[in-house]
Order: sequence, then C-alpha cells, then structure tokens
Amino acid sequence: MVRRFGLDYDNGGDWLPISLPGTVAKVFKKVDMKIILAAPRGFCAGVEMAIESLRMAIDAFPPPIYVYHEIVHNKFVVEHFESEGVIFLEDLSTIPRGATLLFSAHGVSPEIRQQAKARDLRAIDATCPLVTKVHLEAIRYAKQGRTIVLIGHDGHDEVIGTMGEAPEAILLVETPEDVDRLQVAEPGNLAYLTQTTLSVDDANRVISRLRDRFPEIQGPPKDDICYATQNRQEAVRILADEADFVLVIGSQNSSNSQRLTDIGRECQTPSKLIDGVGDIQDSWFEDVKTVLITAGASAPESLVQDVCRYLEKTFGAVIDERSIRTEEVTFPLPRELRGTGAKL
Ligand code: SF4
Repeated sequence: MVRRFGLDYDNGGDWLPISLPGTVAKVFKKVDMKIILAAPRGFCAGVEMAIESLRMAIDAFPPPIYVYHEIVHNKFVVEHFESEGVIFLEDLSTIPRGATLLFSAHGVSPEIRQQAKARDLRAIDATCPLVTKVHLEAIRYAKQGRTIVLIGHDGHDEVIGTMGEAPEAILLVETPEDVDRLQVAEPGNLAYLTQTTLSVDDANRVISRLRDRFPEIQGPPKDDICYATQNRQEAVRILADEADFVLVIGSQNSSNSQRLTDIGRECQTPSKLIDGVGDIQDSWFEDVKTVLITAGASAPESLVQDVCRYLEKTFGAVIDERSIRTEEVTFPLPRELRGTGAKL
C-alpha cells in the first residue's frame, strides 16, 4: 500500500484517488496509466525574461526585430516569433544600420557587442544574469593571469560567448578524459568555470579530475550550474525510479533538456526527448503504467499540457503532479526596455 493525497491505495498502478470537481471529496478510479508531472519544470527565470524582452521589443520598436542566435533553444518558441516577423541570425553583417537587435538568453562575446556597435544597432541584451555571472568570473580570472578551464559543450552558444571574453586564456573540456589530455604552461595558476546547464554529476566528475590533477586550481565560490538546471535534474532523479518511462519536453539543441533525458536513462528508465505531442509514438507505451513528464527550461507549459491531454485521451492517463521545490526567482528586464511598460 502507498499513502498519497492522505489516502491509502494499492500500488499496482491501477487505482488512484481522483478529485471530484467542486468538492474536496476523492474517489478511487481504475486507470490505465499514471502521469507523474514533475515540478519544477519548463520555463526558468532567464527564459521568461528573454521571451518577455522580445515581446516588448516587438511592441516598442519598428520591425523587423533581429535576434542573434535563437532567443531560447526551443523550436516552437522560435517558430512562433518567426511568424511574428522576427529574424534570427548568426551573422550581423546583413542587418541594416540602426535596426533593433536582441542578444539571446545564452549571451554573446564582446566581439559581437562591438560588431553591433559598429553597425549602429539598437542592441538589447537579454542575456540571462546567471550567464553574465560566468562571463564576469572569466574576466576576473583572466585579469589575474590565470588559465581558465571551461567545462562545457563545444559549439554551444553559451560556451562560444563565454570563451569570447578571454579567448587566449580559456581552454574547453567536456569530460574527465579531456582533463587528462590538458597541456598547461602553469599548472599552479588555473581556474575552472562551468556552463550553466550541465549535468551536475557530470560536471562534478570533471571538477574532481581537475582537482586531482591540479590541486591548486581555483573555482567560483558558488556553483555555476544554475538553480533551474539543478532543480529540474533533481526532480527527475527523485521521481524517475517510480516511472516506467520518462518524457522530456524540449528541443534537441536544448542542453538542459538533453541532460534531463540523460538522467532518466541513468536511472535505468527508458527516456525520450520530444519537441511536442507530434513526436509521440504510441508503441513506446506498451506495458507502461507510469510516465514521468518534465520539460526543459526553454519549453513552454502549453506543450506539456498538450502531451498530458494526449496521454489522457489515448491511454486513460491520470495526472499526479509532484513538486520537489518551489521556485520564486525572477530577473529584471534589460535596461534598454525598462520604462516601456513591461511586466517583469
Ligand atoms: S537555464 Fe539557467 S542559466 Fe539558462 S537561462 Fe535559465 S536560469 Fe539562466
């Protein structure tokens, strides 16, 4: 027997207490599938701020609005803004002088800021403050004359931006094996930083290898892996054991969504990363009684709800929302947008 909602019920996965609309009463209902809906999930404070910034820019400035990189790594969010005329690009050279340009939540290098200035662009910086914090740490360590080992994924927008702060001083590693291969001129004068959206466990393995090899290496006073990444990962770690299948809603190029999928698999639970309900294959759910659903930090809640509705309709699923922590983080809008009537 398991006790939940203040009631005991058979743990066969077949019977759940269900709320009766408009009353506090619950009845037991036989269900074919249970959804454990993890919380926290989905949008983080940085993504909320970046998306609101883009909405505000669309309202406040003449079209088109340009965005350097995807505003956040989510296909649906990007397609939605494209349908409103926003142009996402990776090269500033085609933007007309004087146009409005947003820097995405992942941040940019000083070189891109310079290019924007040289083209007289109205630049709005929607970089997440937790990414900016890593940039400032990189600048500080570089000024101290240290070589910085950045733990991150090669080619990720955030990594490119951070490395651009001190390109001669930063070396990129992804794995403990990369640490073994590192060649540094002054082993006693190193510091490390991490990308904000790594797997906490993977990053700790790399940091531990760095500390073994370079005992004097300095690190940031507090972890660079952001609160949202950590909370979403912890929820999957805690809840995946209760599930037969993990569905992560997020795009393939979303680092934090990929890590949630990895964690599901590390917990020995089959796991899939999907953009939305259209990617679901019913064959995944043969013999599946409990599905854990979560969403990466850039995935809109509407996509999660679409998936839940589909599983309810197709498999008679019933939702059990489980929160491991409450998040109350908000970030201010970029200063270029303050006073334009924005809500954040
Ligand atoms: S995932 Fe973390 S670092 Fe990235 S935008 Fe969200 S809060 Fe900021």
